[in-house]
Amino acid sequence: MTVRLILAKGREKSLLRRHPWVFSGAIAHTEGKAQRGETVDVCDSQGKWLARAAWSPDSQIRARVWSWQPDESIDSAFFIRRLQAAQPLRDWLAVRDDLDSYRLIAGESDGLPGVTIDRFGSFLVLQLLSAGAEYQRPALVSALQQCYPDCAIYDRSDVSVRKKEGLPLTQGVIVGEAPPPLLPVTEHGMKLLVDIQNGHKTGYYLDQRDSRLATRRYARDCRVLNCFSYTGGFAVSALMGGCTAVTSVDTSQAALDIARQNVALNGLDSAKAHFLRDDVFKLLRNYRDNGEKFDLIVMDPPKFVENKNQLAGACRGYKDINMLAMQLLNPGGMLLTFSCSGLMPTELFQKILADAAIDAQRDVQFIEQFRQAADHPVLASYPEGGYLKGFACRVL
Ligand code: SAH
Repeated sequence: MTVRLILAKGREKSLLRRHPWVFSGAIAHTEGKAQRGETVDVCDSQGKWLARAAWSPDSQIRARVWSWQPDESIDSAFFIRRLQAAQPLRDWLAVRDDLDSYRLIAGESDGLPGVTIDRFGSFLVLQLLSAGAEYQRPALVSALQQCYPDCAIYDRSDVSVRKKEGLPLTQGVIVGEAPPPLLPVTEHGMKLLVDIQNGHKTGYYLDQRDSRLATRRYARDCRVLNCFSYTGGFAVSALMGGCTAVTSVDTSQAALDIARQNVALNGLDSAKAHFLRDDVFKLLRNYRDNGEKFDLIVMDPPKFVENKNQLAGACRGYKDINMLAMQLLNPGGMLLTFSCSGLMPTELFQKILADAAIDAQRDVQFIEQFRQAADHPVLASYPEGGYLKGFACRVL
């Protein structure tokens, strides 16, 4: 018999609106004892069936919904249906934008909470973030093998959020051959090397694809500073857009080494590309004190906010780097600036930029707004799925 979670009175509202999470405080009691990750039925206080979900005993998000259909079992046929539903959006993107790498499954937004699957060429990279996703690993892998018989599958579930779910960190080959140390992929006509085994996330920041493309439009004849460059996607974009020079800054030497190779791989003039292993916060201050000037600055920092308590500190961090960047721009220069913190609302980020402009004593025009690329959709009932936001700011 499937274990039942009975919600406290009135706590079914978010589920009726199809938000896929059940918080611990919403549960009145459980009927039966579920194993970690096992499939349970969620019912309202009257015992009426609401959803089929995965049990996460160690997390504040105590259950995540797999299905809203009472007659749907969670098995490999279920995962095949979800994969088949996700694929058309990606097919369309791949054809439209000439690319071979994309997020195939974006967790909750593709109806699979806790599951991230990125495709790089013929490699599928799996990241299982929740107890339920881990519990279903065999069914999911079997579904992937059926839908993508020609693809190798690699596990990058070595992410610390798994600890909150009581799961160990795992990594390695699941199916087929191991990815090469550096796999060349295509993004909007750029060739980029991806380190699936050791790179950040699943190897590459696919979510910034559209912003990188936009950078080409802004880069002509510019002296560019690319902050938090990782493997240099924005640097290659700026060079393709005709910049005169681009300096990429990151604390990771491994990332900078790949960035350098990416410039060469695209046949671009390596004399125009510079790479600095440094702390962006420190470097921006040094540049300001030395009177350095740029025409275009890309500011794509890592996530500053992991929980609500860190929001105030993160606001100061965002304001600081953006104020410094504005001060480094020649009049009329452009700042392309991003926040990938899901807990940072777009409006607040825009307000921080406005405050930074005041402190920098510069007038700033918002020219364009960015979001995560279309293979990272946002489900209407789960707005938390939208985490990346950015602005093109013209600094007068
Ligand atoms: N713009 C990149 C993605 C950036 S991810 C792209 O388009 O692919 C954030 C990067 O910031 C990581 O590569 C990380 O190594 C780097 N980083 C984190 N803290 C840093 C700091 N204080 N100074 C410089 N780089 C930092």
